[in-house]
Amino acid sequence: SHLHNPKMQLISKYLEEEPRIHVLDPGTGVWNVIRSIAESGVQEDAFYVCDIDDVVKKYEVWKQKLPRVYPHYAVKCNDSPLVLEVLAALGIGFDCASKAEMSQVIKMGVDPKRIIFANPAKPASHIRHAASLGVEVMTFDNEVELHKIRTLYSSAKVVLRIRCDSEVAQCPLGMKFGCEATMEAPRLLALAKNLGLHVEGISFHVGSGCGDPPVFRRAIARARALFDHASSALGMQLTLLDLGGGYPGNKGSTIDAIADVVNSALEEFFPVGCGVNIIAEPGRFFVASAYTLATHIHSLREPPPKAPSILPASVAESLGNSRNQGADGKDSENLDEDVKEQPKIMYYINDGVYGSFGNLLYDHAHVTPIPLKPILSSSKLVPSSIWGPTCDGLDRVCEGVLLPRLTVGDWIVFEDMGAYTLVSAGPFNGFPVPCVLTVASEHVAHLLRDKLPLTQSHFEKVIDIPLTSMSNNWSPFIADGEIVCRAKGGKT
Ligand code: PLP
Repeated sequence: SHLHNPKMQLISKYLEEEPRIHVLDPGTGVWNVIRSIAESGVQEDAFYVCDIDDVVKKYEVWKQKLPRVYPHYAVKCNDSPLVLEVLAALGIGFDCASKAEMSQVIKMGVDPKRIIFANPAKPASHIRHAASLGVEVMTFDNEVELHKIRTLYSSAKVVLRIRCDSEVAQCPLGMKFGCEATMEAPRLLALAKNLGLHVEGISFHVGSGCGDPPVFRRAIARARALFDHASSALGMQLTLLDLGGGYPGNKGSTIDAIADVVNSALEEFFPVGCGVNIIAEPGRFFVASAYTLATHIHSLREPPPKAPSILPASVAESLGNSRNQGADGKDSENLDEDVKEQPKIMYYINDGVYGSFGNLLYDHAHVTPIPLKPILSSSKLVPSSIWGPTCDGLDRVCEGVLLPRLTVGDWIVFEDMGAYTLVSAGPFNGFPVPCVLTVASEHVAHLLRDKLPLTQSHFEKVIDIPLTSMSNNWSPFIADGEIVCRAKGGKT
C-alpha cells in the first residue's frame, strides 16, 4: 500500500534520490525536519539529517582559530559527495587514504595539488594511481615504503610521518603509524636523500579525538628538530609541516585549547616567514556535529514481572541467581547503584553496530539517546538498554541508560553522528544503511550556489512533507534555480 501512498512516495523521494541540498525556511532547523518525517506516520527506516550550515560554520571557526593552518579534510571520516563538494567549494584541501578517495576528490574538479595521499602504507596500484592523477605529495614512515615509492613514482614528494602520541585519545594511531623521531627519522631522511627522492616535509597524527592539547607542542618541536637536522646534516630544505588530525568535532566541543597550543608552538618553532607551509588533516572536526540520526523502536522487551518460580527452589538455585541481571541477561555490575537495582527495558532500533554505530566499536565513540517525543519533567526514568536490529549479540548501542518509558513506534535521536559512521556501515542481516537528507539555510545555499560543480541541480525545494503541525511554517524554497512558493495547502 506504500506504493500508492503519496506521503510515503514523497518521503522516499527526499531520502533516496540523487544527492541534493534541501533549502530550509528561516526558523526551520534539523529537529523540525526530523519531527516532520518521523511523525508523518509512514517513515519506518532510520534516517539522517545532515546540516550543511554546520559544516560551513566549522570552516569559519577553523579559519578564525587556526589561520596559519590550511586544512586537508580527511575523506575517510565521511565521504558524502555533498559534504566533499561543499568543502571543495570552500577551498580547502583533502587527505586521501586510497585510490578510490583520490578519484572521488579529483572527479569533483579539485586540483591534485590540493590532495595529500596520507597513508604511510600504500598498495602499489594506489601509488601508480596517484602518479597517473598527479597527486604528488604522500606520506611514508618506513624503509620499504620509500623503496616502493622510488620504484613506482620517483618524482613524488614524500612526507615523513613521525610518532608523537596524545596521552588521551579517543582513537590512538601511534601503534600503527609514525616512525620514532630521534633515531629512525634521521635515518629515513638520509635514505630518502640517497634514493634521490624529494622530501617535502614532516607529518604526525597525535591520535583521533585528542584530549591532550600540549601534545601538539611536543610534536611540532620534534618536527622542528628534524627540519634542522635535514638542513644541517643532509642539506635538504623541507617546506611542509603537516599537523595531522585529532581535533574534536562534537556539539559543545571546541578546538580552542588545541588552537592555543598550536598557534604558540608555530610562532616559536615555525614563525611567519620561515618558508614552511603548514597544513593539517582534520576529519571529525568538520562533520561530526553536522549529522543527526533518527532511529525507530521496532521492538522491545520488558523485564518479566516478579512472580514465584515454577521450579523447585533447589533447581532454581542450581541454575544460578539472576538478581544481578537485566532483562537482557547482562551482568549489571558496572551500573550506578540505583540503575543496577532495577531490571532493564530492552529497546530494539533499526540501526546498530553493523550500520551507523560501527563508531562504537572502532572509533570508541559514546552516543547519547534522545527520545524524540516530548518528555515531561515528571516522567519517571527507567533503566534501559538499546540494541541494533541484527540477530547478533554484539549489536548493542547503549547499555545502562536511564530513559522515560518508550514504546514501539517511538523514535530515538542521536546527535554528533557524522564522523566514522556511514563510511563503514553495511546492510548486515539485510537491514539497510540509513539514507541522508541534506539541508541548508537559504543563506548558506545562496553562498554555495553555482559553486558545487558535480550536480547541476543541487538545491531542491524545501522538504514538503505535509500534514504535520511542524511543517506549517515551511513555505518558500529554491528549486532548480527558481524560487518557488508553496502555499500551505500544497498548491504551487
Ligand atoms: N589523517 C590520517 C592519516 C588519519 O588516519 C586520520 C584518522 O584516522 C585523520 C587524518 C583524521 O583524524 P581526525 O578525524 O581525528 O581529525
